Amino acid sequence: MRRLFVAGNWKMNKDLQSGLDLITALKEEVGDDKDVDVGVFPPFVYLQAVARALADSPIVVGAQNMHQEESGAYTGEIAGQMILDVGATHVIIGHSERRQYFGESDQTVNAKLKAALDYGLAPIVCVGETLDQREAGDTEAVVSTQVEAGLAGLTDEQAEQLVLAYEPVWAIGTGKTATPEQAQEVHAMIRSILARTFSSAIAEGIRIQYGGSVKPDNASELLGQADIDGALVGGASLTAEQFIPIINAREQ
Ligand code: PEP
Repeated sequence: MRRLFVAGNWKMNKDLQSGLDLITALKEEVGDDKDVDVGVFPPFVYLQAVARALADSPIVVGAQNMHQEESGAYTGEIAGQMILDVGATHVIIGHSERRQYFGESDQTVNAKLKAALDYGLAPIVCVGETLDQREAGDTEAVVSTQVEAGLAGLTDEQAEQLVLAYEPVWAIGTGKTATPEQAQEVHAMIRSILARTFSSAIAEGIRIQYGGSVKPDNASELLGQADIDGALVGGASLTAEQFIPIINAREQ
């Protein structure tokens, strides 16, 4: 069985002190003996403080986005090396909010992903359909295109570094969750694309997180599905009271 990876995407939430208080609570819970990988993804400006606070902890720290270029005239953007410089090791790429509000396409996702891998940053690549696309019966077509175009040109060695997140857009921040069966169906489809694109062995090793209103009361059923290898959690990752039960959900 693949090791679970539960990641908290803080988005544009929290202030420095409440972020550090959350980290203190998470550190008490997540020791080296934990049978699950845990990550936090604070806003860029808190990355260094959070990475320092987690220096002696197995909890990993990542950015919510990065720019694909090394440096240059890209006002307001952050490069991969800058993320590494402040002690973060991971990066979320192609979150639906980036696609929806900041015009990211499968092509920019692909460029960012390759840049992240070049820097040795561990990427979480997000894919998922909108409600209209699901209702039109296009889920499979949309998600396959996102996976194929987003991962285009990767070597097998690069594919082995990947984590994917299936996040149906209609379930993000809405309180609506895909049923475990709906999520499992798409996860299995994504894994079959990975097998076709790389190899069965590589596909079997790649972790696919589910994201979309994961909460303490639905996490264990979702994480119990054969192809769901963790969760990318937004709202419920902002408090220890909600995030810790999700981290522990498969143990129950
Ligand atoms: C997310 O940020 O990726 C997410 C899934 O958010 P939420 O858990 O709030 O739906």
